[in-house]
Amino acid sequence: MSQLSPHFDIGEFVSMSVNTRALAPGLSPNDIGPRFAALAAAVLEPWRTIVGPIRINSGLRDVIANAKLATDPASAARVKERVGPHCLAECADCALLDLDKLEADARNAAYVAAFGKLYELAHREAGLPVHEAILEYARDNKRVTHIHIQHTLRKEPARRFLTRTWTTNADGVLCELYTPWKP
Ligand SMILES: [Zn+2]
Repeated sequence: MSQLSPHFDIGEFVSMSVNTRALAPGLSPNDIGPRFAALAAAVLEPWRTIVGPIRINSGLRDVIANAKLATDPASAARVKERVGPHCLAECADCALLDLDKLEADARNAAYVAAFGKLYELAHREAGLPVHEAILEYARDNKRVTHIHIQHTLRKEPARRFLTRTWTTNADGVLCELYTPWKP
């Protein structure tokens, strides 16, 4: 166990189930700690002071586990053509523990507000270096499941905010739908 920042430990980002023999090509094991430490210090800690305790549902993924999460043709193609940010140790799927205690409608509203606060921190006052943040909805398009946050040291932060909902394609397959988000 090793502490990355005041409130985050490497064990929260790298689960025991990660297959270390199937890491993304080009990701050195030595990069994993520093990348998550940078995400924690630069983005998660400042956001945590506003939204309260954060649980990391998913951090690092090996390429095999990541490919299994692609449930529709477009996301399967995307996984093949580029290495995803979870595989590069650059992002975290965040659950907000205080908000998860609320009943459904209040909880969803609180997640949207927390996402808006992250947007403000990135785009206004603090200029937090969020590369991409996604408010992710369950397949019912109602319940927020988590907030995905990417931070990268490889390029300038894009500060791109999106929602991920679901839509049915012409073949009747439920597909992910990414839409730009603004407050
Ligand atoms: Zn994610």
